[in-house]
Amino acid sequence: MTERKPILRVKDLKVYYHTDRGSVRAVDGVSFTMHEGESFGIVGESGCGKSTMAMALLGLVVSPGTIEGGQIFLDGTDIFTLDRELIRKIRWSQISFIPQGAMNSLNPVMRIGSQIADVITTHQGYQPEKILRKRIQKLLSTVGLPHRVYRMYPHELSGGMKQRVCIAMAIVLEPEVIIADEPTSALDVVVQRVVMQTLVDVQERLGAALILIGHDMGLQAQVVNRQAVMYAGKIAEIGEVKTMYKNPLHPYTKLLIESLPTLQLRHDFQGIPGLPPSLLNPPKGCAFSNRCPYVMEHCREAMPKLVEIQPNHFVACHLHSEVIK
Ligand code: SF4
Repeated sequence: MTERKPILRVKDLKVYYHTDRGSVRAVDGVSFTMHEGESFGIVGESGCGKSTMAMALLGLVVSPGTIEGGQIFLDGTDIFTLDRELIRKIRWSQISFIPQGAMNSLNPVMRIGSQIADVITTHQGYQPEKILRKRIQKLLSTVGLPHRVYRMYPHELSGGMKQRVCIAMAIVLEPEVIIADEPTSALDVVVQRVVMQTLVDVQERLGAALILIGHDMGLQAQVVNRQAVMYAGKIAEIGEVKTMYKNPLHPYTKLLIESLPTLQLRHDFQGIPGLPPSLLNPPKGCAFSNRCPYVMEHCREAMPKLVEIQPNHFVACHLHSEVIK
């Protein structure tokens, strides 16, 4: 099997939000690599930093947020060395975004065709209306929408149709990386499945890499090959999905998997007791120490480092690594 080329490399990324009460360390030293055509999941509770990371990958971190450190290489280019105009050019054409809640991301007073045409003409210049319309209608078919959607307004579409429009906009320029931030969170489970299948189909057709951000471990398990579990702005565990579900190493990953409902086991649902720590003032040691059933004395003193325990399976936990002083 030929080795796939790395398309996205994130190295020690730090994104902080500066507030009157201090700096919130939303993303605090995250590193990972993605390869061409790969499906990669980022999972974690609300406020763990996953959406902030998506904004950083798109060059969209704005005040009071700042990039405090690290690098993001997209196809070998460090995007932090590019000026705003160049970042604007690569956004949509090389790296695109499917937001959560399509309802709020589409312009309510513009027809769908015009909104998609805007993306095309902004990046590729003027194109005759007839050619644009044909291209957009073909694109709408690709995501399972009828041609008539071209002339419709967002309020005339169902939630699932709007989310498909967002997928169409994200793929119109055939990017190498697609970031989908909880793309089906506002949809019912049946529509969720259909929309997710559409996303996977178009990703495979384009050969693009997909970053699926979310908190639904079950959905992630069906879609991605590799996954990073984030907790309090850091990666707690990263590895192949199959290995992680069979043998989760981090107590947080274990608890997340145990909280999934199954058809076989009948028992009371168990949440994870407690709350994540404040990122304004994160604890000195392991951020999960106040909720971890396996906590040891030195967990509260020393921060565990992300280390490779098995090939391509990394975890940040003192149960598996030496104490980093
Ligand atoms: Fe639990 Fe300690 Fe591992 Fe943190 S480092 S997850 S507190 S065992």
